[in-house]
This record gives sequence, C-alpha cells and structure tokens, in this order.
Amino acid sequence: MAPTTKGIDTVRNPSEIFALFGNPVGHSLSPLMHNATFTEMKVDAHYVPFCVENLEDAVRGIRGFNIRGVSVTIPFKTAVMPYLDALDESSLEIGAVNTILNDSNGGLKGYNTDWLGLIRDLEESLEIRGKTFAILGAGGAARAAVFGLLREGGIPIIVNRTIEKGQEMAREFGCQFSPLSEIEKIKADCLINTTPVGMAPDREKSPLGRESLVNFRWVMDIIYNPLKTRLLRDAEEAGCSVLTGVGMFVHQGAEQIKIWTGREPPRAFMKGIVLERLKERDGD
Ligand code: NAP
Repeated sequence: MAPTTKGIDTVRNPSEIFALFGNPVGHSLSPLMHNATFTEMKVDAHYVPFCVENLEDAVRGIRGFNIRGVSVTIPFKTAVMPYLDALDESSLEIGAVNTILNDSNGGLKGYNTDWLGLIRDLEESLEIRGKTFAILGAGGAARAAVFGLLREGGIPIIVNRTIEKGQEMAREFGCQFSPLSEIEKIKADCLINTTPVGMAPDREKSPLGRESLVNFRWVMDIIYNPLKTRLLRDAEEAGCSVLTGVGMFVHQGAEQIKIWTGREPPRAFMKGIVLERLKERDGD
C-alpha cells in the first residue's frame, strides 16, 4: 500500500516555541495548560517539555533555537540563575527563577511568578493585609510565599523542621520563626503548607497532626496533586476553610503567559483545564 499521511497527527510548525525545563517533567500539567491556553488565545505557539540533562547546554539552546520563553521547575529554579543575562527584583530576593523571557536580541531575563500566583489566589478568598500566616517549610516555595505576603502587608511566621534553615530565612526576611515540633503553640489566620509532604503517591501523609489545625481559620496546601491532600481533608474536619494548590498553579502559569505575550490569559479557562485533568487522575 502506498504511504499516506492521512490520519497521522503531523507536527505543526508554529511560529513560536515555549518550553519547560525540569527533571523529571513527565507529570507536569504545564504543557497541557499552556498549549490549551495558546490555542484558546489564538497564539500561534507550541509549549514543549524538556527533561534537562545539562542545564548550561539547555540554556544555550534557548538562544540557539530562539525559544521565546521557558518555565523552569525542580530542580533548576536556583541553578539556572547564573546563566541568565538579567533577573527581576522578585527572583533576586526569592533566590529562584521559574520563568525566562527571551527578548528579540537573545537576551535572557529571569522572573519569579510563584509568589504572584500565590498572592493572586489568596486574594480571591481572604484579605492579606494585617493577617498572620504560618508558612510550613523554608524551601523555594516558602521563600516565594514569604516575599509575596510581606509585599502585601501580611505577617508571615516561618515554621520549619530544620531549625537553622528556618531561623536563617526568618532573619533574612525579618520575620518570626518556630520549629515545626512546636507548631501547636502557633495561632494564625492562615496556615500554608509549602512542604512536599502529602503529594502523590504519599496521599495519606500530612506534615501536621490534626490537633494543631484548630489554631487556623484558613488552611492552604500548595500541593495540587492530589487535589485534596490529607492536610486539607483533616482541616475541613477541624472546621477550617481550605484552599488547594490549583489556584496558585494556574495564576503562576497565567503570569508567565503575560510575561511572554504581553496579553492577559483566560484564567478561568486555564483552571477548568487543570481541574479536569486532576479529577481524571484522582479517579485513577
Ligand atoms: P524545597 O525547596 O525542596 O523545600 C521543601 C521544604 O519542605 C523544606 O523546607 C523541607 O524542610 C520541608 N520538608 C520536606 N520534607 C519534609 C518532611 N517530611 N517534614 C517536614 N518538612 C519537610 O521544595 P520547594 O521547591 O519549596 O517545593 C515545595 C512544594 O511546593 C512541592 O510539593 C512543589 O510541587 C510545590 N509547589 C507548588 C506550586 C504551585 O504552583 N502550586 C509552585 C511551586 C512549588 P527542611 O528544611 O527541614 O529540609
């Protein structure tokens, strides 16, 4: 039989390429969310996930292939910084880049949209100014959260397992610190989990015992897989209002599209796409 391309999903030739750099990247929802959003916005672009083996070579590839923008994820958010030509104020203070923009001359600028994603999502449910926030963890996501909350007039309290790391971060940002082992002494308007404890496949794990949850009116988990972590299920039983990590994920991605295209993306559409896929996964 003569060869035919009928029925074969041929590769399109979009005018612009965007990418995800991470390792691993297989479970990321960013390719689904960004490609669906580009189509919805009628942007002629394609977003490709790359499992990066050599970061320096990968960054060279941004210029070499004229990739217009890149999302950066675990474990490269800090490691990528020395390879870029410029950094915005937030990525410098947080110490992590999750977004790269390639300007038309091949100049690469790093941004951090995680903090904005978190703030945009929180603001939809509660007022930040003057409120206290217990931040569980002292890693990159915790730094983004503390940076954003301070900017918006919130009062963060860092709560971490490794005391020296938490204390050092509290000193740097000028806020309070408590060891995780003493969490039951902390009362705050909102608790935000930025540790990976409870993420799939460890769905039954929680970073906190149930008894501590009564000290918080709101509990947010920035994990979004599963959608309702054990921490959030316990918090609901304790009478707290809860926020999943989906809103932050969608808003950080929406802010990336704004940086890359200069246009406001359809955030509700993006959230719908991500929620649909997560519900399918929860049913697995
Ligand atoms: P990271 O830099 O590795 O930091 C992880 C923090 O969690 C550390 O402070 C660590 O404490 C703490 N931790 C880890 N295991 C723990 C345990 N068993 N008990 C108590 N504390 C523990 O990670 P990251 O980049 O901040 O990311 C953290 C999570 O945020 C990941 O699940 C990531 O997927 C999620 N995230 C979500 C979004 C979103 O858009 N929703 C965006 C960014 C990140 P020690 O200091 O004691 O080691």
